[in-house]
Amino acid sequence: MTQPRVFISYSHKDKLVAKYLAAHLQERGAEVWVDEGEILVGDSLLAKIAQGVQRASFVIAIISRNSIGSRWVRKELAIAMHKEVSGRRVVVLPVRVDDSGPPNFLKDKLYCDLSADAIDWNAELSRLFRSLGLTSGAHGTLAENTPLPLSLTIPAVFSQHRILESNCWGFGHFVADDVWTGGIYIPVRQRALGRVLAETPAPLSRSVPRRIKAPPTSRVLTLSAVSEYKPGAALRIRGLATCDTFARRRGFCAVCYGGDPMTGAFVRRATQVGRSAATSILTALERAQDISAVTRLFEAGPAPGRMVLSPADGVVRLERTATGTLRIAVTDDSGECFNVVTKDDPTVPEGDRVWLGQALTQGDPSPHDLLQMFGNKFVERHLVTELAAAFMRQGIRIPERDLELLVAVMTSYVKVEGGNEQDALVRRHKGKALPRRKFFSTNNRLLRLGREPILARPLVLGVSEIFHLERALVADLARNQRRWRLIPTRSPVVKGRKLT
Ligand SMILES: [Zn+2]
Repeated sequence: MTQPRVFISYSHKDKLVAKYLAAHLQERGAEVWVDEGEILVGDSLLAKIAQGVQRASFVIAIISRNSIGSRWVRKELAIAMHKEVSGRRVVVLPVRVDDSGPPNFLKDKLYCDLSADAIDWNAELSRLFRSLGLTSGAHGTLAENTPLPLSLTIPAVFSQHRILESNCWGFGHFVADDVWTGGIYIPVRQRALGRVLAETPAPLSRSVPRRIKAPPTSRVLTLSAVSEYKPGAALRIRGLATCDTFARRRGFCAVCYGGDPMTGAFVRRATQVGRSAATSILTALERAQDISAVTRLFEAGPAPGRMVLSPADGVVRLERTATGTLRIAVTDDSGECFNVVTKDDPTVPEGDRVWLGQALTQGDPSPHDLLQMFGNKFVERHLVTELAAAFMRQGIRIPERDLELLVAVMTSYVKVEGGNEQDALVRRHKGKALPRRKFFSTNNRLLRLGREPILARPLVLGVSEIFHLERALVADLARNQRRWRLIPTRSPVVKGRKLT
């Protein structure tokens, strides 16, 4: 089969969707022509576009409010349509990404629907790939976990988060200090700007003694307030992931969020902080040259060269297997042996003593490994600082709070693993991922009824996974509301438990 040649026609405001489609098409063997990379200064745009369309056998037209108003997109489409009419085989495939209808001359065409009201994006994308003669997997369908374009999922997942109360009075906080990562330096002053110090001192960990300052009162740290913090300072700051409001509801309190670093005013109640964070991140993504590193972090995916972390404190033994892979065995003091298998070279010599979580190979650590070894708070800070650094490497500065909001949501899910199997509520949730607030409310309900609570373990989820999960939860809720009406108020399951 010859590889299809595809020209993507889009308004520059839809650059992220275009980049996403281009990446997926290239991955499946298509030759993709987008104007951005190939048009040089001084080239005649129109001639280049005409040439691109001439060479292509397919034109994907990204239809949105932006593109319908864009002169260039209309021109590109006009050239493609002319070619279609004049008998040369070129197929125009419209892809709708918002609630705008297709322009008149595309009205009679079937389109691929990637807007927020599409029922199944995976099915829509699979259909598009099949129309291009591309297949992925045995049936030309997408894998369940295929990431969706961030420009579509980020607004859908985060926009509902608001400021719901002025203060949750929680003790949750994170320790902010200077960050050095991969050649990027983020000073503590910059990180503290606009935030609020945690009031009540929590027991200090032994690794950060004395340097922590006792905070005076709840106030927003302004430019002049942070100017007194010298490099090396460590501050306890109220954070979004640990906000008690967020543990119960889809939003945060004003104190954990902070306020304006210029005036020192707190953010107002009902402010749509999720929407502004989503906008700020999408604007940054549009400016970014290379979005692959950032996308990987937002999707909580493993790095291409995944760093192997030690599964225990102990002594290392190295062993080459017949197939050329390396088995690293770590034996702890009790004599228990943990094995990890990798293709990469080890960074520790045979017989060395390592500690839990120490890097055993080069590369980037997977957030899932970090979660398992160091817990929620660690992986949350890791993702926030790595995202900030990945943007800064491309000259883009995003307020850390906006990244923190997204990461707080990404780390706020749990997987239900255990509980009383006889309990209908437990059976309903078993094996599923749930938002932590739902897990807490379910357990409160179970405990009030004198039933056994459910057990769960924390998760870190990518933005696409959350998007799919939230849709599934809404569908599940709708189904169960119908079903609940049929169940008598006195549940027979409870009676049965009391007898045994
Ligand atoms: Zn709070």
